[in-house]
Amino acid sequence: MEHIARCFCGQVSLVAQGDPALQCYCHCTSCRKWSGQPVTACILWPEDRVHFVLGKELLRRFSITDHHEGGKFSCVACGGAVCTFLPGARMFDIFAGVLEAFDFQPTKHLNYAERVIRLPDGLPKYRDMPEHSGGSGVLIAE
Ligand SMILES: [Zn+2]
Ligand SMILES: [Zn+2]
Repeated sequence: MEHIARCFCGQVSLVAQGDPALQCYCHCTSCRKWSGQPVTACILWPEDRVHFVLGKELLRRFSITDHHEGGKFSCVACGGAVCTFLPGARMFDIFAGVLEAFDFQPTKHLNYAERVIRLPDGLPKYRDMPEHSGGSGVLIAE
């Protein structure tokens, strides 16, 4: 199964293969500031299952931490978000909004302590991240 993601103008596209490793909401300030949205719908795929098929030369990488390969990728033509690369986890995070015809099924909320919007949907709300992802694993109220 291949999932296609395209930027706003369509000049950049990538393919993610198979099932994602994680589907979640992220409330962190970094995701919010970059997307301009109060919460982001994040879908993580291992690095080796994501391939740029069009417009790779139009990608602009921005990393606020100056990391040499991690950061947020957008299209220089339209300014639209494309994906984030997480170098520690070797994962691409592709926002649900740029994937085409993808059935988003989130399982948890990350960084809920940084929220600016409440989403009382019954899913677990991590204060930061689960322990296996380097977080405290602490759950907080909706
Ligand atoms: Zn574009
Ligand atoms: Zn985030």
